[in-house]
Amino acid sequence: MITYSIGLKNKFRGITVREGMLFEGPAGWAEWSPFLDYDDATCVAWLRAAQEAAVDGWPAPVRDVVPVNCTVPAVDPLTAAEIVRRSGCSTAKVKVAERGQTLNDDLARVEAVRDAIGASGRVRIDANGGWSVDEAVRSLKQLDRFDLEYVEQPCAAVEDLAAVRRRTEVPVAADESIRRAEDPLRVKELEAADIAVLKVQPIGGVRACLDIAEQLGLPVVVSSALETSIGIAAGVALAAALPELPYACGLATVSMFTQEVVAEPLLPVDGVLPVKRVQPDPALLEACRADAARSAVWEERMARVLKESAG
Ligand SMILES: [Mg+2]
Repeated sequence: MITYSIGLKNKFRGITVREGMLFEGPAGWAEWSPFLDYDDATCVAWLRAAQEAAVDGWPAPVRDVVPVNCTVPAVDPLTAAEIVRRSGCSTAKVKVAERGQTLNDDLARVEAVRDAIGASGRVRIDANGGWSVDEAVRSLKQLDRFDLEYVEQPCAAVEDLAAVRRRTEVPVAADESIRRAEDPLRVKELEAADIAVLKVQPIGGVRACLDIAEQLGLPVVVSSALETSIGIAAGVALAAALPELPYACGLATVSMFTQEVVAEPLLPVDGVLPVKRVQPDPALLEACRADAARSAVWEERMARVLKESAG
C-alpha cells in the first residue's frame, strides 16, 4: 500500500497537490484517491471501486480504444484554439460561466474552439453549475450558434437542470448532480438530463456504473476524478464495457499531473486512449511517494473507511 503525492500543473478544485493510495491485488493495481474534503462514509464507494480493481478485475471490453475530449479552461480565445490544435482530439470541452467573466468571453472562446476544431469536430461546454435557469437559457441560445454537442451542468441544482432542459434545444448532461450512487435516480425521476457523466470511484466501481447506466437508460460520458494512470484505467475499463459509447469521454486528465507513476501514461494519441491495464514503474512510483506524515494520514483514513465499510 503506497501513498502518492503529485503536484498539479494548475489549481483544480482548489488543490495544487493530488494524493491517494495505490495497491496491488490478484487482479491488478488499484487507486484509492477520495478528495481530502470527503468524509469517511463518502469514501466507502471509492474503496469499493479500488477493491474491484484489485480483487475482481473488470468486465470484458467491447471496444479496444476510447475516444476522449480535450478540456479548454476559461482562457482567452488564442490560448483556447492552441489547446485544441495541440490535443489531436476531435471533441473539445470548453469551460463557460466562469466567475468574473461575461457571456461575451464565453462566446469568443467557444467561437475560437469551433474554428480550431473544424465543422466536423464536436464542441461541448461545461458551466459547472455557474448559471441560473434564465442565464442558462439566454446563454445557450447564443452559444448554440457554434453548434453545441451538449451543455454540462448548466445550473447547480438538479431541479434547475430539469427546468433548463425543458427550455433549450441543447442536450443537457448531469455531472455534479451525480456524485453518489443514489443521485442518478433523482436525475431520472426529474428527467433532468439527456446524458449522464459517470466517474468510477465516487459511484463505487465499474460494475456499479454499468448498473446505473442501465437503470438510467441514458448515454454515459465517463469522466475521471483526476487520477493517476492507475485510476484512469478503471474509467477506460468502464468506457470500454458500455454497450454504447456515443460520446468522447473525459479521461484525458493525466496531463494535468506533474509526475506519473507508470512508464506509459494513459495519454491520448489521435484523440483516443488504449484499453489496457497499467502497472506502476518502481522508480517512478518511488519518486511520487508521499512523506511519512502524509502516508500516516492516508493509512489512518484507509483504516477508518475499511471499518466504516464493514459496519
Ligand atoms: Mg463537469
